[in-house]
Amino acid sequence: MIPRRLDKFIADCTGLPRREIHRRLKHDVVHIERPAPWESPQAWPETLIYADDRVFFEQTLLQPRAPSSYFMHHKPMGVVSTTSSPSGAPCLGPTLDALPEGTFPVGRLDRDTTGLMLMIDDGDLAHLLLHPKFHIEKEYILRIPGLLHPDDPRIARALEGVELNDGPARALSARVVSSDEDHSLLGLIVDEGRKHLVRRMARALDLRLQHLHRARMGELQLGELALGETRALGQGEVAALW
Ligand code: URA
Repeated sequence: MIPRRLDKFIADCTGLPRREIHRRLKHDVVHIERPAPWESPQAWPETLIYADDRVFFEQTLLQPRAPSSYFMHHKPMGVVSTTSSPSGAPCLGPTLDALPEGTFPVGRLDRDTTGLMLMIDDGDLAHLLLHPKFHIEKEYILRIPGLLHPDDPRIARALEGVELNDGPARALSARVVSSDEDHSLLGLIVDEGRKHLVRRMARALDLRLQHLHRARMGELQLGELALGETRALGQGEVAALW
């Protein structure tokens, strides 16, 4: 088990919402035992819990649940990829409510980006998919108005890399999927997840982005899953993500 924050650990074990856990933590109901020679730490929400720690919550020893919930969802436009939305904007909450307790969205897509969202209850897999050091590929399809020739210099520039305000960014692959007078589809593969990365790359390349769609994460393709639909992953699909 990779170390995880105490509040996350309790949420993973109990399925309680984070806000409720923070409320209970204030009432001194959590006790952590760390094997010698280490000193047992205080129970703060951000305290890191390691594999050998024993965490008692209201005097009950917490047992990490074996992850078992693996879904993909085709996020529609206009939906924020959070579990709740104080502003009332459509969010992923209703989709998650229909899935097993403890299932959470892996990372974010912008509100107007469509495409593949993973929803799982496996913190270790989420860490692997999101942490930049693992360089998991994400494939995006960019819709650009008008014709885009495969020799357009902006495609070569995407591969060479562009300078963004938080450092350089480059596509691992950039290919014209289709092109006509009306619009072109450009497929870009990146292996990191900085905020608004693809939109910022498109701006730096002077590509007018009409629409952004995520088609793939790692080995997992969205395929024919209809907009707004959710389906369970097969065992082979889960195994291929690791
Ligand atoms: N990059 C972006 O700019 N937006 C997304 O939603 C995903 C990747």
